[in-house]
Amino acid sequence: MTEKASVYENVTRQFDKAADLMGLDPEIRKILSKTTNEIIVNFPVRMDNGRIEMFRGYRVQHNNALGPYKGGLRFHPAVNIDEVRALATWMTWKSAIIDIPFGGAKGGIQFDPGDFSTRELERISRRFTFALGSNIGPEYDIPAPDVNTNAQIMAWILDTYLSMMPPLERNCSLHVVTGKPIESGGSLGRDKATGQGVVCLIEQWARDQDFDLTGATYAVQGFGNVGSWAARLMKPHGAKLVAVEDATGAILSPDGIDPDDLTSYVEKHRGIADYPNTKLVDHEAFLSTQADIFIPAALENQITARTAPLLNVKLVAEGANGPTDPDGDAILQEKGLDMLPDILCNAGGVVVSYFEWLQNKRSEFWDLEEVDTKLQRKMVSAYERVRDAAHAYDTDWRTAAYIIALSRLGKVYKERGIFP
Ligand code: NAD
Repeated sequence: MTEKASVYENVTRQFDKAADLMGLDPEIRKILSKTTNEIIVNFPVRMDNGRIEMFRGYRVQHNNALGPYKGGLRFHPAVNIDEVRALATWMTWKSAIIDIPFGGAKGGIQFDPGDFSTRELERISRRFTFALGSNIGPEYDIPAPDVNTNAQIMAWILDTYLSMMPPLERNCSLHVVTGKPIESGGSLGRDKATGQGVVCLIEQWARDQDFDLTGATYAVQGFGNVGSWAARLMKPHGAKLVAVEDATGAILSPDGIDPDDLTSYVEKHRGIADYPNTKLVDHEAFLSTQADIFIPAALENQITARTAPLLNVKLVAEGANGPTDPDGDAILQEKGLDMLPDILCNAGGVVVSYFEWLQNKRSEFWDLEEVDTKLQRKMVSAYERVRDAAHAYDTDWRTAAYIIALSRLGKVYKERGIFP
């Protein structure tokens, strides 16, 4: 279902639209339109059968004017330099919009983790960390989970990184990765944070629109970390999940699908396929589902000139990064749909990653209530900033979110100047 357009070209088009509208200083524009570092590593890993395979890993660091580079690691066969560049750039904007002292980075390895054993995955993760060496670091560049990576993989990365440090520096370097298991220095609430942020913004939107979420219907694309948490956290609002798609297929049930039960099913069966009492539908039928809210939480380039006309919802709340390309965006606007754009809507993950980083630096451990309250505050104030900018500039929310990020970064460059 993923269309093979350049994702970085989407970033460029979004950036140009905002930069033109706000009249961004041409010199700042030059700086921000380029990534800072692009690291490609090829590394060997011994497989369970004793043979050696070569893997290709990426880390792109877009900008660190606001703080250390920050962004996830993705394990997927479609990972390539264009995609990682785009994802790294979006991270810069996201940190700036949500107002945390981080820059933007992203990385990944081009392979399908489903084809490898757990022990092989561990060796691949560890050897990648070794290959990256000092290109990551707790005050320099901090990875986190993304598609097909999780807390366990972060624990292996942490352990490998610490093993490469002198003994005296090991216990003050826990914050080299976020999204760790709780026992290894993770934060309460990180697991659900991205989905929670998405739902928090849907609540804000509903309040502004005077729209009652009780009985509202929603469809979710991608039922991994972001999609399943967003789906589960919509349930207490009395909203009804009517369609879900993941890499194994798409299912529909006008009577509603219980997101908690589906999550347990996916844990056992590694996908939603054959989930009982639902109708199996194809991709087009899934996208055409009539619902109030659509939450894309899988991959990029899902809502395009071809697929946007199919959407039959009031609101798109982007859990995934880059699910809508600029042509898709234009069609959704013509259709009068509301949009909570990725760089705002899925920022909950990086916010709680920042909280985890702070807890590690200060040797603190916050309770869940503290994490949840602080996350809510960050999400709501960013929502209000973007809403107000959209009104002030009479533009769409994605462009408004870009304008906030570019203004903030522009100010920092003006204040600090360029060395030498
Ligand atoms: P994940 O690996 O936990 O889940 C990915 C989901 O997408 C799975 O259900 C998978 O089956 C589904 N998927 C994959 N290919 C698909 C296809 N062709 N069609 C339909 N579904 C497909 O990943 P995640 O961490 O939930 O990330 C999902 C999206 O959210 C990505 O765009 C990621 O960059 C973004 N995101 C994640 C976080 C985070 O904290 N994990 C934060 C911000 C943004």
